Amino acid sequence: MNDKIPVSLQRCNSYDPDEVRDALNKVLAPLGGIQSFVKPGDRVLLKPNLLAPKPPGAAVTTHPEVVRAVALAVMEAGGEVFLGDSPAVGSLAVVLKRTGIMPVVQELGIQMVPFRTPVSVPVPEGGVSRSFLLAEEASGYDLILNLPKFKTHGMMTLTLAVKNMFGTVVGAAKPGWHLQAGDTVRFADMLLDIWSALPPGLSVMDGITAMEGNGPGSGDPLALGILMASPSALALDCVAGPVAGLPIERHPVLYQARARGLEGARSDQVQVLGEAVEDVRRVFRLPKSASRVDYRLPGWMKRSMRKSLNPFPRLNPELCTTCGACTAICPADAITLYNKPRTGGLVDKDKCISCFCCQEVCPERAIDIVPGRLLRALKKVNLA
Ligand code: SF4
Ligand code: SF4
Repeated sequence: MNDKIPVSLQRCNSYDPDEVRDALNKVLAPLGGIQSFVKPGDRVLLKPNLLAPKPPGAAVTTHPEVVRAVALAVMEAGGEVFLGDSPAVGSLAVVLKRTGIMPVVQELGIQMVPFRTPVSVPVPEGGVSRSFLLAEEASGYDLILNLPKFKTHGMMTLTLAVKNMFGTVVGAAKPGWHLQAGDTVRFADMLLDIWSALPPGLSVMDGITAMEGNGPGSGDPLALGILMASPSALALDCVAGPVAGLPIERHPVLYQARARGLEGARSDQVQVLGEAVEDVRRVFRLPKSASRVDYRLPGWMKRSMRKSLNPFPRLNPELCTTCGACTAICPADAITLYNKPRTGGLVDKDKCISCFCCQEVCPERAIDIVPGRLLRALKKVNLA
């Protein structure tokens, strides 16, 4: 008997509504169709990536036509559709308007669920904590249907299906978790804990236009042309990494999931259906911070060499408008803005934890990432 976890891959080259609906039907068909996941009367929570109020063409958020296609499929299966998130920047209503999802929500009568109320959710097998404060509004559904966007990420290299569940942490608490986790390994473990606390029953990833470069908020759109789906967010990520040409050593969530022996983290536990990985693979341009190697080093070395190994953000005075979004979100209080004699700001490397929340929220793409001195030297001799 084949007990591998299925991950389905389907080409889809545009956001034309008919093409997306057709591709959705095809990507779900090998998994048994939407009826395998949604029964009549089920309450289904859609959880898109709604990082920030950016237009659909920016590829920062899940595209409205993917939301529409999935919502219609759930409704046709007899489900009642809810849509929730806690954006890092702006209210849910503002982000839905700017991302073009609000018209879909209104047209289809989808119920909006802002994640506002933190409650303690147990995680018995947690790697970082045995409980997490997650949004009460994300619980109590028959199905959580995860709708991540396929993007690069400053701290996690890629943000995919597992990382998308970090949206169940209520907005203002997100930076605090970065600070509490402290480094890449613990943050990856924490993402795995949160995913296991509120596991989605189905993940459908929007990789039609993905993001490469300085994701998740300041990268560049990449025409990848795929939809992916799986009952396991972790298995989906396990296939998505190779699609983006990413080795396991540079993918902290997968790296930690394998170290913890989690089901779906190894390619021999996963069965790819539909398109073959090698036929859709595109080697992504990674964020500059992805060159970090700290999570593969012993703890004493990470601590003593942090400043020369870690990449750090640098504010570009030509682009910075001193809007204050980065200082507001920085969990380490590491950024000082100044207006005269020129605009811009400085990052205190003694305080900075290299979480790159600042770059995520910067509306002007004014934050660059600069590798540490030692890391630059190692790269020159191909050791990193
Ligand atoms: S968020 Fe960007 S534009 Fe705003 S102050 Fe920070 S660096 Fe400058
Ligand atoms: S300066 Fe940026 S990268 Fe450093 S801790 Fe603050 S938000 Fe994180």
